[in-house]
Amino acid sequence: MPEMLSGAGNKGLAAIGLDVGGTKVLGTAVAWTAEVICTEKTTLPPSQPIIEVMANLASGLASRAFRNLHLPPSPVPCVGLGIPGTLDRDGNLTFSANLKGMVGVDIRSRLRESLSTKALSGLPALFSSDVPIVVENDANCALIAEALVGAARGRKDVILLTLGTGIGGAMMLGGKLLHGAHGYAGEFGHMVVMPDGFQCKCGRKGCFEHYVSGTANRRVSHEDMAKWMALGLANLILAFDPEIIVVGGGFGAGMGEKLLGPVRKLLPGLLREYSETQVPRLVAANLGEDAGAVGAAINAIQHIAPQWDY
Ligand SMILES: [Zn+2]
Repeated sequence: MPEMLSGAGNKGLAAIGLDVGGTKVLGTAVAWTAEVICTEKTTLPPSQPIIEVMANLASGLASRAFRNLHLPPSPVPCVGLGIPGTLDRDGNLTFSANLKGMVGVDIRSRLRESLSTKALSGLPALFSSDVPIVVENDANCALIAEALVGAARGRKDVILLTLGTGIGGAMMLGGKLLHGAHGYAGEFGHMVVMPDGFQCKCGRKGCFEHYVSGTANRRVSHEDMAKWMALGLANLILAFDPEIIVVGGGFGAGMGEKLLGPVRKLLPGLLREYSETQVPRLVAANLGEDAGAVGAAINAIQHIAPQWDY
């Protein structure tokens, strides 16, 4: 357990966070103050094992972080991973559309092994052989980051939607992430909003993400997309009663107020129970593509230091 668990006055390195995607890995080094020390992105070369890419990125980030902080290298307290897929209660990947090769692999042991070989000669190892590695779904990581240091800072009842090619989602209620019994909580993209609608690769027809997303953008007008989004959000709001909804993802960021503005106008009409001040705020994510990596790091810090305050 690290000596200093409070962020106050401690600018030292607390965690390395990695957001692992189908084609790239984003990494970040986060201080005990929750500040980002440095970030780095790497594309996944088809030939190199992904675990090795992750270990190289993590050790590179750790060395850079110590240099930036003008501190001598020392073992990194913890590592957080954000993975696109479904995780069981022990953090093992049970399903992933983008990382099929990682399903069933003991990611933490393999990464720990690879990290332990990254010691620089003559210097103390950057990662101990039992460095805590905490794995979480990538959308959940983005939500953690936005709720702690981003657009929903300080909020406890938050829904996050990432609009990319499809829709990713995550929920926090009373400050706790919702995983569900099987890790499927937050799969908003595959809620059916249109019976017998567009065929989805998941096997259903009329999934939400075929009406609101980068894919939908090719066949749904922006006006209709706002209507579909308002409808989907109203259903989520009635089910979970959040105080704020954060919209991120590449497509979401590109659309910005062009999409959020009209949806904001439509929501009150779909939420008759809600007074004007009760209708949840709808805001754009503000950590951009780093949200997943930052959230992965923060999630790891929270695991090793549950009383952590920054
Ligand atoms: Zn679907």
